[in-house]
Amino acid sequence: MTIEARAREFDLADPLAAARALFRLPDGVIYLDGNSLGALPRATPQVLARVVEEEWGEGLIGSWNRAGWFDMAARVGAKIAPLIGAAPQEVIACDSTSINLFKLIAAALQLRPGRKVILSEPGNFPTDLYMISGLEAQGLARRRLAAPERLAEALDGDVALLLLTHVHYKTGAVHDMAALTKAAHAAGALVLWDLSHSAGALPVDLNAAGADFAVGCGYKYLCGGPGAPAYAFVSARHLPRLSQPLTGWFGHEAPFAFVDDYAPAPGIARLLAGTPPILGLAALEVGVDLIASLGVARLYAKAQALSQFFLECLEALGVELELASPADAAARGSHLAFRHREAHAICQALIARGVIGDFRDPDVLRLGFAPAYLSFADMAAAARHLAEVLARGEWQRPEFRRRAAVT
Ligand SMILES: *Cc1c(COP(=O)(O)O)cnc(C)c1O
Repeated sequence: MTIEARAREFDLADPLAAARALFRLPDGVIYLDGNSLGALPRATPQVLARVVEEEWGEGLIGSWNRAGWFDMAARVGAKIAPLIGAAPQEVIACDSTSINLFKLIAAALQLRPGRKVILSEPGNFPTDLYMISGLEAQGLARRRLAAPERLAEALDGDVALLLLTHVHYKTGAVHDMAALTKAAHAAGALVLWDLSHSAGALPVDLNAAGADFAVGCGYKYLCGGPGAPAYAFVSARHLPRLSQPLTGWFGHEAPFAFVDDYAPAPGIARLLAGTPPILGLAALEVGVDLIASLGVARLYAKAQALSQFFLECLEALGVELELASPADAAARGSHLAFRHREAHAICQALIARGVIGDFRDPDVLRLGFAPAYLSFADMAAAARHLAEVLARGEWQRPEFRRRAAVT
C-alpha cells in the first residue's frame, strides 16, 4: 500500500479530522510550524472585530466593567488551567513567557531565603537561561546548569529553584515532571516548569506532580496569535505568601483605590503588573476555547500518531535522516528534530515547496505536528517533498544558501 493510501485510511478513522475546518490555512501549504506560531482559528477575526467595534468603539471605557475586561486575564487563565492540570484560580494569562519567568524566579528566591542557585540545563530555551542571568547580574541569583542525567546530583542545599522546559524546544524530549519535581522537593528546592511546547499538545498534570510554578506561551499550540499573552501558574499552597517584584497597580488588592502603598491582590491576580492587553486576550481566548473543545487526550494521541506516521513515510521512501528526537513517541512532545549539516538549506527548499517547518541553529530541521489541524495526508505529502528535496539535491540551489542575516 502506498503511503498516500495508508494516510487516507488514517484520515477516515481520525476523530479530529473535522477540526481542520475550524482553522484558516492557506491553500498549497503544509504547515509544520504550529509549535512556533499556531494557525489562525476561523472564529478569531470576527471575535476581534466585535471586541474592537462594539466593546472598544461603542462601549469605550465602560467596557472594563460591562464587557468583562477586568476579569479577562483571570478568566482566560482559568480556561487554560484544565489543559495543564491546575485549578482555575491558580492560573492567569498575562505578560510574555519571559516576563512571567522573571517574576516567578524572583518569587522562588524570596520563598527560599539563604539559597541563590537557579538550576537548569544547558540548551534550555535561551530566554529561560537569560532571565536567570538577568537576576544574577542584579546579584539576586546564581545560575547553575547541569545535563539532564546530572540534575539529581546538582540539586544541593544551595538550590532555590529548578527551572526546566517540559518539552525541549529543539529535540522534543519530555522531562519526567513528577520525578524531577519530587527530586527537587527532596532537596528543599522549588520547581518552575516552562510548558511552552506542552500545553495544548500533550497532557500536563502540574498538581498531580506537585509542581510549584509554571509558565508557557499563548501563541504556540494554544493558537492565540503572534505575541499572544502568556500564562503563569502558582500552586495554591504558595499563593498566600507569594511575592513577585513587578508590583504594578493591576496586581494590587484594590487597583482603583489609588493608594500610595502596595498590597498584593489575595490570589493569582497578584501576578499582574500593568493593564492587561484586551485585544490579545480576546484572541487568546478563542484559541484556548477551541483547543480545549478538541480535548487534550485526543490531541496528544493524534500528535503521536502523526509524527510516528511521518517517520514511517520517510522510511518507506528510503529517506535516511538523523533523528535528534527520542525515537519512542511516548518520550517526546509534538515535534520532530532532524540533524543535518545542511538543515538550513533543506528547510528553505521545503518552504519553497509549501512545506513550512523551521531551522534551529546550528543543524536542526524542526517539524511540528500540531494535531488540531494537520492530516495524515499532510504527513505523506510532506515526507514525499522532503524525500525529493534530498534525492534531487534541491537544497544545493544558491537561493537556499544561508545569508548573514538569518530570517
Ligand atoms: C517559545 C518559548 C518561549 C518564548 O518566550 P517569549 O517571552 O514569548 O518570547 C519561552 N520559553 C520556551 C521554552 C519557548 O519555547
